[in-house]
Amino acid sequence: MSRSEDLFGRARARVPGGVMSPARSYAGVGLSHPVFLASARGAHVVDADGRTYIDYLGAFGPHLLGHGDQRLRSALVDQIDKGILFGTSHGLEVDLADRLAAAIPEMEKMRFVSTGTEAVMSAVRLARAATGRSKVLKFAGDYHGHADAFLAAAGSGARDAAGSGVPGVPEGAARDVLTVPYNDLEAAARAAREAGRDLAAILVEPVSGNMGVVLPTSDFLPGLRSLADASGALLIYDEVILGFRARYGAAFPLVGPAPDIIVLGKVLGGGLPIAAYGARAALMDLVAPEGPVFQAGTHAGNPLSVRAALVLLDAAGEPGFYERLEGRSRTLCEGIMALAKEAGANVSLTRFASMWTLFFRPTPPTNMDEAREHDREAFARFFGAMLARGVLLAPSPYEAWFLTSAHDDDDVETTLAAVGEAFSLLT
Ligand code: PMP
Repeated sequence: MSRSEDLFGRARARVPGGVMSPARSYAGVGLSHPVFLASARGAHVVDADGRTYIDYLGAFGPHLLGHGDQRLRSALVDQIDKGILFGTSHGLEVDLADRLAAAIPEMEKMRFVSTGTEAVMSAVRLARAATGRSKVLKFAGDYHGHADAFLAAAGSGARDAAGSGVPGVPEGAARDVLTVPYNDLEAAARAAREAGRDLAAILVEPVSGNMGVVLPTSDFLPGLRSLADASGALLIYDEVILGFRARYGAAFPLVGPAPDIIVLGKVLGGGLPIAAYGARAALMDLVAPEGPVFQAGTHAGNPLSVRAALVLLDAAGEPGFYERLEGRSRTLCEGIMALAKEAGANVSLTRFASMWTLFFRPTPPTNMDEAREHDREAFARFFGAMLARGVLLAPSPYEAWFLTSAHDDDDVETTLAAVGEAFSLLT
């Protein structure tokens, strides 16, 4: 028995499904147990049995610099010596707020929280308070964390649960959330009309990363901006995956107009838990204690996470950082598709900067219904073949591959060799 298998046996006795988050389960890829990791360095991770993998899971998005970055290590060790949690204000959080406002001018003021879930939840609370309205319009296949209201027709690990409704989510919480297909402006307009003066917010991933990577059509985000303006609702961009992934700052300038509220997470913390929501000052001043909208957190803005975020901004802000990532991502994705063509594999690929999804369907999906129509069996076999060849992917056809600045040309070459072999096993 392998160590991973043994650990999974023990985990299942203590943890539902043996995993701390459903997206980590390997049930969907037909394997008896997930890989348990023991260590990680650069672009590589090592499992409990000592096998090394090139990592494209990227912990579901946070890793932009790869594992064990030395700058991050030094800063964190230094901060551990100085104090990891004060429960008071401190200078580092003010530095980070200044730097984020400089990178994303639409975030004149902001709050730091610990997870993407908290940040989106707080952003929606703010929108509801600011408008005095209750309904939220969102899009099937987007994922906004596991707060009650957002689980209806959600993507990522909530996908299967959402189909049959989510037990434990009261009807009242779900009733105020309207869900329409991604990229369907007409359906969004209809829903906004129906909600009328009760629409508080339109909540969207400006590029979706939770039904696999799905790009917005060119009119989608401008259309949502107009709908929000016409109805007096606020537009919220959930950039938990996107912020600092595609460029230094928010990703939205690459794909659409500015929102009213921006949510960041994942990459921002360089692997430590921190997320943020922010907006123009007048809006954020509704948050307590300046205003009446309550939001709090024991670990909010903790020095360790903030320090990690500052290192991340330093590293990502270096000249040429994103250009190098872009170049390597392009090489890898073009290589994957050339191999697919050679092998006659029935796949398509959608890439946004250093994140992409290889879909086991002939054309890239534009919404969740299309994303669902794919060859599950082929994905599972591809996943298993890649794992056996030392390449770690997310164990779901609806997730992205994430590249980091630690992946080098050797990793690209080794990955492409594995992809070629995996494709040849499919046909
Ligand atoms: N929003 C988006 C777009 C996400 O992808 C996620 C997590 N995958 C979240 C929110 C929730 O973030 P967290 O898991 O940190 O609560």
